[in-house]
Amino acid sequence: MSDKVDIGLLEEKSSWLLHPRFFPSKIGGKPAWLDLESIPHPKELTCKQCEEPMIMICQVYAPYEESDDCFHRTIFIFICKNGSCCSLNSSNNLVILRCQLPRENKFYSFEPYKDNENEKFPMDQWPKLCELCGLRAPSHCSKCKKTYYCSRKHQVLDWQKGHKELCQSLQAGNILNNYFTVTEAGKSILYKEWELIVDEEDDEPAATVDINQEMEILNNMIKEKKAGTLSEVSESELEEYTSRGIPEDKVFKKFNKRISRHPDQVLRYERGGRPLWITGNTENIEMNIDKCEYCNGERQFEFQIMPQLLNFINVGLDFNSVDWGVLVVYTCKASCNGGPVYKKEIIIKQDLTN
Ligand SMILES: [Zn+2]
Ligand SMILES: [Zn+2]
Ligand SMILES: [Zn+2]
Ligand SMILES: [Zn+2]
Repeated sequence: MSDKVDIGLLEEKSSWLLHPRFFPSKIGGKPAWLDLESIPHPKELTCKQCEEPMIMICQVYAPYEESDDCFHRTIFIFICKNGSCCSLNSSNNLVILRCQLPRENKFYSFEPYKDNENEKFPMDQWPKLCELCGLRAPSHCSKCKKTYYCSRKHQVLDWQKGHKELCQSLQAGNILNNYFTVTEAGKSILYKEWELIVDEEDDEPAATVDINQEMEILNNMIKEKKAGTLSEVSESELEEYTSRGIPEDKVFKKFNKRISRHPDQVLRYERGGRPLWITGNTENIEMNIDKCEYCNGERQFEFQIMPQLLNFINVGLDFNSVDWGVLVVYTCKASCNGGPVYKKEIIIKQDLTN
């Protein structure tokens, strides 16, 4: 198997260019849903622990060139923002969904769209979506009847952060609501939006990474508490990391060496390849990857989200924020078509400590 990996880096981009018709890979913001009709019900994207709506963290556009059914194909990852639902080496606070469409479909034109901000794109077939987070919205503001919400929590938050004033203009019919406008309340709950640019990883640099550079990366990660759930590392362990040098974790060493080619990478994509684990405690993980629940076929590694992403999405350093070492995604090898339009896949959260 070749060792060619694609790397995802972030770029700022105007929201309109991340519209579903451009099939974006992106971080944060509202989901740019692929199938615009069978959008999942908020019940499927409610945290099982705290029962709050989950927020989209990223979507990766990853078609299968060889399959007509997967001419368009997007993987979505949702997370519960509540830090207390985030536990070590557990992906209970995450949901991952796969959606795919043939080139000829009822939502999008056969030919690619032009970069035209004002091009009309029909939204009348869309179900109502939450003003704040973009999930499906079963309820609406009873006053203006023009603003929709996934949950009472988001309705109350929107009212407090500006809908109270906006509601009257909406009632008078002076303005129209636009799904892609992010309101103040939306900004307070959504992750910062970025385009995810995916490109080939550089070859290994000729000079091997020196140990000091590795130490610096490690120390920075520890200082910023951005490498797995470091808040749960004991003082003495931290001392050991910093005073004695690189811990006896060859996997972590390899991890650091490999990411030093692109220190800002937030994604590694290698369909059918091998994940780059952050630490050595991976025994039995791959053996426990369940078969696809829709076709009973095997799943394979597709991509992973890197801890660097935490630096870009304003997660914050407070103790109640989410955290991860790596998020490793396994999907149906055949990318089957059965089951619901948005199909569940598997995500594994590995933290730096175990
Ligand atoms: Zn939760
Ligand atoms: Zn919502
Ligand atoms: Zn209203
Ligand atoms: Zn399958």
